[in-house]
Amino acid sequence: MSAQILDGKAIAAELRDSIRQEVDNQVSQGNARPGLAVILVGEDPASQVYVRNKKIACEKAGFNDVSEVLPADTSEEDVLALIDKLNADETVHGIIVQLPAPDHIDPEKIIERIDPKKDVDGFHPYNVGRLATRMPTMAPCTPHGVMTMLAKTGIPIRGLDAVVVGASNIVGVPQLLELLNERATVTVCHSATKNLAEKVGQADLVVVGVGIPEMVKGDWIKPGAIVIDVGINRMDDGRLVGDVEYDVAKERASWITPVPGGVGPMTIATLLENTMKAAYRK
Ligand code: NDP
Repeated sequence: MSAQILDGKAIAAELRDSIRQEVDNQVSQGNARPGLAVILVGEDPASQVYVRNKKIACEKAGFNDVSEVLPADTSEEDVLALIDKLNADETVHGIIVQLPAPDHIDPEKIIERIDPKKDVDGFHPYNVGRLATRMPTMAPCTPHGVMTMLAKTGIPIRGLDAVVVGASNIVGVPQLLELLNERATVTVCHSATKNLAEKVGQADLVVVGVGIPEMVKGDWIKPGAIVIDVGINRMDDGRLVGDVEYDVAKERASWITPVPGGVGPMTIATLLENTMKAAYRK
């Protein structure tokens, strides 16, 4: 059996189109365009690419892009002051600070300073707490984008045995909460987990986000399982590969996400979705 491909690129394009239509609709009724501020401190090359992609997506969706690029030696105090200014600006509905920031800037202070209503990355403890108490407001983009993709399989999440490999604040933990809220039975694995292959092998649904190329071997996958690969790893020869051994896994899975073109495009589309909700929430 060869898996059906969960085409994140196509699903994200559909979502972006529906966002663009809604924005045009709101603007025709006299409402403002959503405004997204992406703050980049320094010149990390990967961050520059992410910020450029967000900027392009923002413009295509009909949003106002109010991004700010600050020099690497900008003080923490100045970044916090900029966040305060954007928090108070009614034309700005979403604020994100591209991480990692330079070492002299504490990411926790930055995340906590953003008004939770404008925290379109969904990283503020208030928004994570809302998700954990089944009152989601602004859900972290990557795990929520995964849920949007899963809906496309038509397979109900309720009752599935799910294994999430990776337990970070931006991927694994909110993914656990999203799946739990849909009534999956979820096991979360991390660097101290014993018998990882055995745990993965029991799962109906596997979501992997560890940052190690092809760490989850294809022959661990239970035949018929759904496999979502969040990992993005740039190899020395320039190829992008995921955290799952794709070629083998796709012969066992029922559905699988490719890398690239799987979860990545969903993350940006979900960021736009969160920003639009922030703009038009009454
Ligand atoms: P982190 O480094 O923050 O977290 C990695 C997680 O993997 C940790 O929980 C860690 O465990 C766990 N881990 C590490 N080694 C192992 C192991 N051998 N077995 C089991 N678990 C292990 O990474 P991120 O969550 O930020 O990112 C993960 C991957 O997802 C990266 O490839 C990143 O590029 C990608 N990513 C992709 C996005 C997209 O849009 N597609 C968005 C965000 C990330 P412990 O907690 O014990 O340290």
